[in-house]
Amino acid sequence: MYKAFLIKYAEIGIKGNNRYLFENALRDQIKNALKELGNYLVTKEQGRIYIECPEDYDYEETVEALKRVFGIAWICPVMIIDTIDWEELKTAVGNYVEERYPDRNFTFKMEAKRADKNYPLTTPEMCMDMGGYLLDRFPELKVDVHNPLVRIMVEVRTRSYVYSEVIPGPGGMPVGTSGKAMLLLSGGIDSPVAGYMVAKRGVSIDAVYFHAPPYTSERAKEKVVDLAKLISRYTGPIKLHVINFTDIQLYIYEKCPHEELTIIMRRYMMRIAQTIAEESGCLGLITGESIGQVASQTLHSLSATNEVCTMPVYRPLIAFDKQDIVNISEKINTYETSILPYEDCCTIFVAKHPVTKPSTKVIRHSEKLLEEKIEELVKTALETDEVIMVK
Ligand code: ATP
Ligand code: MG
Repeated sequence: MYKAFLIKYAEIGIKGNNRYLFENALRDQIKNALKELGNYLVTKEQGRIYIECPEDYDYEETVEALKRVFGIAWICPVMIIDTIDWEELKTAVGNYVEERYPDRNFTFKMEAKRADKNYPLTTPEMCMDMGGYLLDRFPELKVDVHNPLVRIMVEVRTRSYVYSEVIPGPGGMPVGTSGKAMLLLSGGIDSPVAGYMVAKRGVSIDAVYFHAPPYTSERAKEKVVDLAKLISRYTGPIKLHVINFTDIQLYIYEKCPHEELTIIMRRYMMRIAQTIAEESGCLGLITGESIGQVASQTLHSLSATNEVCTMPVYRPLIAFDKQDIVNISEKINTYETSILPYEDCCTIFVAKHPVTKPSTKVIRHSEKLLEEKIEELVKTALETDEVIMVK
């Protein structure tokens, strides 16, 4: 019955003069999300986006894809009626109700819109007359203008549209409308969720993964690629940098106190991520850190890690409980992949008793022990950056 969708958006409507940029970005993201499903026609019209579906489209699949497009507030499956003649339209809307609601025991409210202000009926007249017609044709129906079970919306433009279902979209803003940031993506539960959350605010995502072969396996790296793939269903294509971190890690292990290893390693990850971010036009870093989750995420540790960053670091999960993060990862379908048991470069050399209250002064002092070779090692790591385009 439905051959089209009407897309409503909320927040991007308030962007004043930039509004068209948001609308265009949303239209493009929708096109992108539907590209592989068939030949959809996506058009923008007076604060709305319309999607006309190909003849053989799959309803569920289309709705699922649209539920991943940030910026969509509501997805309304629409029936297109190829007439604007009022009497014909009434019959068609009646047929729609008959088909869509076989059990017609519900309360409803009519709503109407007309593009042409010279249309023979005003909108209140359209509602009154259409409502009356439906009540005559289906005596089981009742009107309830305050709290209806179903709102039946009729729009008359160059042709007419009727819809009564609204499916919630993901909200947020279209990706690409808020600049780009670099996600530190590990194989864990948190960082994919962090990337998803920032992308939801319209930010495009690049990612970096620190790989430590042979201590971390090829399979661990594939897992990260898989996670990037899963979040790219929301964020669009992701440029993933894989940095070989082994020599840096071994060197820190050799030179520095073992209980400080994680913090020092995290500082080098941030430094390297920042260099790549600057080179690729990213305006910030994103991590999956959350206060108190592990020793490296106490306020002291975060402060020590953060000290080396000159770029803003976005930590969307900072005040989230683990279970809340898990809930999101299940919702976005990354959980199952995240819990696969492959080694993580952060945990491989982890000390039995890592510092939980590192002093930045002490850490800085320990890093002096690396002076001889660290710059060279960082340079090599950056030069051997492996870039994977993930879609
Ligand atoms: P996650 O579940 O995201 O792995 P975590 O709870 O295991 O996080 P840590 O290992 O302390 O926490 O890492 C904190 C953050 O640092 C991660 O969320 C991620 O953003 C980044 N990070 C950690 N390890 C790596 C890595 N090997 N490559 C890229 N980023 C990493
Ligand atoms: Mg981790």
